[in-house]
Formats: sequence, C-alpha cells, structure tokens
Amino acid sequence: MSKTNITCINCPMGCPLEITMENDIISVIGNKCNKGKEYAIREITNPTRIVTSTVKVNGGERPVVAIKTQDEIPKKLIFDVMKEINKVTINAPVNLGDIVIENVLNTNVNVIATANDKVK
Ligand code: SF4
Repeated sequence: MSKTNITCINCPMGCPLEITMENDIISVIGNKCNKGKEYAIREITNPTRIVTSTVKVNGGERPVVAIKTQDEIPKKLIFDVMKEINKVTINAPVNLGDIVIENVLNTNVNVIATANDKVK
C-alpha cells in the first residue's frame, strides 16, 4: 500500500487530498467534489498540465503575445513543449484563438494565442 498527499489545484479551496494505492485500486479522500478525485487519479496515473507562455511577434504593437496549450498535455512533455514554443515567431496581426503551433509534439493539442496584437 502507498499513500501520497497532494493539494487539489482545480479551485481556490485547495483541498488536501490523500491518495492511497493498494493492489491497483486507487482511493482518494479529502476532496470536496468529484473534480478533486479525478485530478488525484490523473496525478497518480498520467499527470497533465495546461502550458502558458508567450511567443515573439514580428511587426506587432507588442513584442510578444500570450499563448497557451488548448488542452492539457502530459506533464513530462512541458519542457519539450516550451522548447517548441521558444522557437516560434509569429507575424502580426494576432487574434485571440489563432493557432500558433498545430498538434505540438504530436500531442493532438494546439498552442493558441490568448490575446490580440495589432500591426504596428
Ligand atoms: S476537490 Fe473540488 S472543492 Fe476541493 S479544491 Fe478540488 S475542485 Fe475545489
């Protein structure tokens, strides 16, 4: 039997979660809602995260624009995805929701702009 303690990051309540694994059975206590249980199980089996950052913009009013992965990616790929993001420069204008990198590292997740940038 193994026990792991984590904090749920899905809302400001920050519930302390205790995850117990015994014979491939995962049980969770401390969660005030089902999101916390799902999060705990995912953290133990396949932790994932949304990545947020910025990319450089050519010819825009601002030198960079905010971006994020459209969905969660495996936590173990965060540094590799950041390397891909850091290689990219996009041209103004940029519109919220524009795809900056399609299917980043074959994750089936796009990196998208989360802000606008006009042509300078
Ligand atoms: S378990 Fe539910 S209530 Fe608690 S922090 Fe997570 S999402 Fe919020």
